[in-house]
Amino acid sequence: MRWLLCLAWVWSLALAFPRVGVHEGFTRLVFDLPSPQVDYRLEEGEGLLTLSFPGLSVPARDLVVNSPEVASVQVVPEGRGVRVLVRLKGAVEVTTRRFGDPERLVLDLSLRREAPARPQAPSGAPPQTRPPNPRRPVVLLDPGHGGVDPGMVGYVVEKEVVLDVALRLKSLLEREGVEVRLTRDRDTHLSRDKRTDLFLRSQMADSSQVNLFVSIHVNASPTRTARGVEVFYFGRAQDPRVLAQVIRENGGGEVGRRLTEEARSAAERILSDVVAQANQRFSQRLAETLGHHLSQATGSPYRGSFPGDFFVLRYARVPAVLVEIGFGDHPVEGRRLQESAYRDRVAQGLLSGVLTFLSNGAFSR
Ligand SMILES: [Zn+2]
Repeated sequence: MRWLLCLAWVWSLALAFPRVGVHEGFTRLVFDLPSPQVDYRLEEGEGLLTLSFPGLSVPARDLVVNSPEVASVQVVPEGRGVRVLVRLKGAVEVTTRRFGDPERLVLDLSLRREAPARPQAPSGAPPQTRPPNPRRPVVLLDPGHGGVDPGMVGYVVEKEVVLDVALRLKSLLEREGVEVRLTRDRDTHLSRDKRTDLFLRSQMADSSQVNLFVSIHVNASPTRTARGVEVFYFGRAQDPRVLAQVIRENGGGEVGRRLTEEARSAAERILSDVVAQANQRFSQRLAETLGHHLSQATGSPYRGSFPGDFFVLRYARVPAVLVEIGFGDHPVEGRRLQESAYRDRVAQGLLSGVLTFLSNGAFSR
């Protein structure tokens, strides 16, 4: 049985489009093509390579690669052809070669060498920060609210719980070799102005060094009877209940409505942007993975993953989600969220969700 599974795995890699190999100093993508007539076009953008193969038909695919050079590869069939999006972790040198018999296109991607070291900074100047180790995945955690903004207040105060859970999750992830950045590591806001505050958080995710972004929140319901886990990815909110929640997390009241309106116009633009759509699909997969693992670890029911016009998630170029770890105003779940042991389980659930998502590529490290 085992050798059969092994054979199936090898067969699936052989059929993969593209085949991905992680080597010392470079990542190789091999595109097997049906004939010499199949042409391609390569565009290099900031943090993204796009290959178009007109006339080619292959199934959609989302692959987390997580090599030093490449974060992910997505295959997007569209009309009469296919587009391949290669998300990069930094500036890369691209070498392309075409071979016949069998027909294939080979791309080798290596990180561009750093510029020569600058002269020593004068004494007293702050030491230059070292670039992060590109081999380690980088996760950005955003404990929601903070400082002047407490978030929801029920059996718990949202800003306190989410910070505590984020710090627990940070040490668990670091133990697994994942680098973690936080939007805040204490009880503070990033700005008194809600728009600026959410903008600064989302800006931190807009870096080619970050692999994924998780904003952590606590839920509330008008009837105080709901419980469970919900995870959101960026997109247009489909139902009024989600919209009400989006407005609350976007600052509530008039501010929340204004920021939701602004985020909504960004969500509409996704409909005509194939790159954003592909990232949305990735985010949806991250949302599903986190939701299932969190529910499993805590025993709290999984209520599902939904698109929402969350200001903090808009324009994210990496998989980005907002996770509601539970309802802080439910008489049972709210009290559980007060407990240290329960918060550990929440952090464990998020840990296994993140690790599962990151390791979903056949060649990940
Ligand atoms: Zn919140």
